[in-house]
Amino acid sequence: MGKWLVGVDLGGTSTKLAFINTSGEIIYKWQVATDISENGVHIIPNIVKEIDAKLAELKKKRSKLLGIGMGAPGPVRSESGSVYEAINLGWRNYPLKDVLEKKTLLPVVIDNDANMAALGEMWKGAGQGAKDLVCITLGTGVGGGVIANGQVVHGASGAAGEVGHITVVTDNGALCNCGHKGCLETVASATGIVRLARGALTKRKSSLLQEKMNEGNLLSAKLVFECAAEGDKLSLEIIEQTSHYLGMALAHIGNLLNPEKIVIGGGVSRAGDLLINSVRTVFQKHAFKRVSKSTNILQATLGNDAGVIGAAWLIKNQLDK
Ligand SMILES: [Zn+2]
Repeated sequence: MGKWLVGVDLGGTSTKLAFINTSGEIIYKWQVATDISENGVHIIPNIVKEIDAKLAELKKKRSKLLGIGMGAPGPVRSESGSVYEAINLGWRNYPLKDVLEKKTLLPVVIDNDANMAALGEMWKGAGQGAKDLVCITLGTGVGGGVIANGQVVHGASGAAGEVGHITVVTDNGALCNCGHKGCLETVASATGIVRLARGALTKRKSSLLQEKMNEGNLLSAKLVFECAAEGDKLSLEIIEQTSHYLGMALAHIGNLLNPEKIVIGGGVSRAGDLLINSVRTVFQKHAFKRVSKSTNILQATLGNDAGVIGAAWLIKNQLDK
C-alpha cells in the first residue's frame, strides 16, 4: 500500500485536514476548530495531535506519511516557510514550517491558502492540465492565486494574486477590510453582494427578495441567487452588477497573464451558471481579443477540498524534486 500525504487548510475559525494518496485522492478528511487563543501558540501542537490521533484511529504509524503541506491565511515567505502576518491567528513572522517540522520530523511545505486552492484546482479540479491559471475564491472575502508555468507567483512580499483588492468602483466605493474603497471584494464577496442587495432594496418597493425576507428569511448572497433563479428582477440586477465588476477585473487579469483557465470557486460561485455566464459575457466584451478566445472561465469543482488537495500536491511536488 502506498504512502500518504497530509494536506492542511488552516483557517481562522476551522482547520481542514486530509490524508491524500500520491494520485491526489482523499483517503480520509476531517475538520477541527482552530484554537487562536494566546496569539495562536496552540494551533500547531493541536494539528500535530489531530494527525497522530487520526493515525492511531486508522491503526497506522507516522511512517505512513510522506510529508505535510499546509495553507495559511496570510502572505507567506515561501522559501523559509514563515508567515509574514496572519491577523486572524495572531501570528507575525511566525516560522510555521520550522515549528511543524520539529514537532513531526516530517518534511513540510507552506504556502498561502488561496495559492493552495489554485494548486488543488490545477491538480484535480477545473484547472486540470493547465500550467497557467488563475483561481479566484468568492467567499466572505475575495481571494486569488496565480500559477504561471506550473509555479505559484508570490511577488516581492508574498502578496501577489490579491485580486480581491483590485479597485473596481472608482467613485464612492464602499470601504474594504484592507482600508481602501471600492475593491472587488466590496462587490463580489458574499458580504459585498448582501451590501449591494441592501442598497437595492431601499430603492425598490416590491421584489421577490423583499417578500422572502418578509417571510423571515435572512438576507444572504444565497437568497439573492435563489430569487434571481426564479426571475426576480431586483436580484438579477444585483448579479448583473457583481458580474460587471468581476468580469472587468478578470479581463484585466486576462490581459496581464493570458492564463489558459480562470477558475472561480468559493461559496458565491455555487450560484453556478447564472453568475459564470454573465461574468463570461462581460469578460469577452472587455478582454483583448486573443485573450478572450484563449482564456476560459470555469467554475471550480473541488469545493472546500481544493486547499487540502493543493497542499498535498505542493509537498508531493517538492519531494519528487
Ligand atoms: Zn480591499
